[in-house]
Amino acid sequence: MTAPAESSPYRILDCESLRGLIAELEEVRARLGGRPEEWQVREVGDGNLNLVFIVEGPRGSVCVKQALPYLRAAGPSWPMSPERAFFEHAYYAAVAPYVGALIPRIYRYDAGLYCTVMERLSPHIILRQGLIAGRRYPNLARDIGEYVARASFFTSDLAWPFERKMEGMALFARNQPPVRITVDLIFADPYFASPRNRHTSPQLDGLVAELRGDGPLKAAAARFGQKFLSEVQALVHGDLHSGSVMVTEADTRVIDPEFAFYGPIGFDLGAFFGNLLLSWYSQPGHATPGDDRHAYQAWILEQARIFWETFRGRFLALWSEHGQGDAFPAALFAEPQDAAALQSARSAFVDSLLADMLGFGACKMIRRILGFAHVIDFDAIRDADLRADCEAGALAMARTLLTHPEQFHSVGDVLDAVPRMARRA
Ligand code: ADP
Ligand code: MG
Repeated sequence: MTAPAESSPYRILDCESLRGLIAELEEVRARLGGRPEEWQVREVGDGNLNLVFIVEGPRGSVCVKQALPYLRAAGPSWPMSPERAFFEHAYYAAVAPYVGALIPRIYRYDAGLYCTVMERLSPHIILRQGLIAGRRYPNLARDIGEYVARASFFTSDLAWPFERKMEGMALFARNQPPVRITVDLIFADPYFASPRNRHTSPQLDGLVAELRGDGPLKAAAARFGQKFLSEVQALVHGDLHSGSVMVTEADTRVIDPEFAFYGPIGFDLGAFFGNLLLSWYSQPGHATPGDDRHAYQAWILEQARIFWETFRGRFLALWSEHGQGDAFPAALFAEPQDAAALQSARSAFVDSLLADMLGFGACKMIRRILGFAHVIDFDAIRDADLRADCEAGALAMARTLLTHPEQFHSVGDVLDAVPRMARRA
């Protein structure tokens, strides 16, 4: 249960001021146990934007996330409203009834401090780290497929009267700074010589110049940028990559929805799918003499397939069971002879989500190699030649997805193509 929003004057928290703040929250205090002086407080944020603290007491622990008034990765010279914390909280509240334990429990939101006190996930680690380490998570792909199906279906026009979605749109329409970041950093900067970009140089210089001169590629990316802004299908997480998922072998949690807004469902699908592909291409960089990672790459592709198939199956099942919204009104398809038409319309819609997943996924792959924010999957590869080979494979795949979508009719077509695009190091 989320407690009612509290409000304190804004100040940037540190370990000591946080201790004082928590000491005044009875419920959280009880959860931690002991006296405030006994609590261990440390800042663990590894993200691009915010402060994240872990507070441990003798009985339990909590996680506290505070939005800064600037982009952490860039510093105070890149200001950004801390309002995103409000929207992160609003997103969790909106999807909580549908996604159950796939998100952390929220204990407290302080509207003035832009600060959320939530369940500390432990011994969970960030999925991206697990993928780099070559670990397998048996439930992951199914859990995230189910998550996206439920979160997106139940915030779409398929589930509820449109008035409900429009209320949500009105609220999330104010979460503009993250949308600005996405528009600039994903759909624009990577495709021209923006000063915020970087890439593995000089190894990729030629390829990067070629991509930036590829008109059809830029037109495809721009078309997905337009879709991002104009296809208001559901409340989306907005940043659902492998750094926004925490895992144990048995448990999966989605975190960090501060980029939430009403947009295309394929944007969340593509974030997860595209980052699985990035992980696949990065694996040669993490191979050891005892483990060439080939079996692990096969596992990753299998997860990409399970993710999509779970999403597709669950989304269609939810539509059959709970399709009470204003889109595809039940009254139009009440007769038995209407079933076939409805069935094929539903299939066509999920097919369009597959195409969107691939396009958005490809844009997300490209931005992580040519743009501002890279991924540790590649950055951790010290040998720059090897890193560049891995990145070149991912770029080739993403480019084909964007410029030759007609080659990909099923997720199987994509997974067959992935190994063909790899450069042999
Ligand atoms: P940012 O928006 O700045 O990227 P995140 O929400 O991704 O912040 O959190 C940054 C890091 O803090 C995560 O990568 C993870 O290591 C840690 N973290 C975040 N939320 C939790 C949590 N509920 N429990 C434990 N660790 C967490
Ligand atoms: Mg974030």
